[in-house]
Amino acid sequence: MSEDHGHDHAEIGPEDEHPGLQWDVSLSERAKRSLAMHELLIEKGVVTNEEVETASNNLRRRTPADGAKVVAKAWVDPEFKQRLLDDARAAVYELGYSLAHDAELSVVENTEDVHHVVVCTLCSCYPSSLLGPPPDWYKSFAYRQRTVIEPRSVMREFGLELSQDIQVRVVDSSADQRYLVLPERPAGTDGLTEEQLADLVTRDSMIGVTNPLSPEGAPIS
Ligand code: FE
Repeated sequence: MSEDHGHDHAEIGPEDEHPGLQWDVSLSERAKRSLAMHELLIEKGVVTNEEVETASNNLRRRTPADGAKVVAKAWVDPEFKQRLLDDARAAVYELGYSLAHDAELSVVENTEDVHHVVVCTLCSCYPSSLLGPPPDWYKSFAYRQRTVIEPRSVMREFGLELSQDIQVRVVDSSADQRYLVLPERPAGTDGLTEEQLADLVTRDSMIGVTNPLSPEGAPIS
């Protein structure tokens, strides 16, 4: 993407021979900013293109199914759950997940009394090592602003209507501190295997904007 082509991107036009590049696709402002920062970091020697590619490929290897395995394990194994709440980095390592970044990971538990929802008010910090890249809405200004001001309204738009008895805690991620929500295990799931339980754990329930699915596969509101 940012290899040295011997010219500025501003100078490149459709007449240039760049197989695979699509000049008919216009970039969003966010993509342009990201590309500019990417090129600057490489130009200044902060990172190499190969390092960016490797980090990006590693991220894409993770999906919410990985986070779901961690949650399901915590649901069936109380001792693992305690280790996960005490020292998430060490606990997920037991399951073969190493956190790629230096940021700490905290797992916050939803109970019948407390519901956590995760946001990054500054940008888009996210537990990517367990969930993969964040969804676009997580990075939007609207989500970042509104979640701290009116979390219940935001959750309602995701289909989750929380009782007023439940305390809502908004946790703000940063470059140094990421959060993963441990949702409450749905009722009626006693007979399910760990694998079946993991199927009920959605990405959004680990961000906290929804609850996991019911055993019938329906969202729990
Ligand atoms: Fe951020």
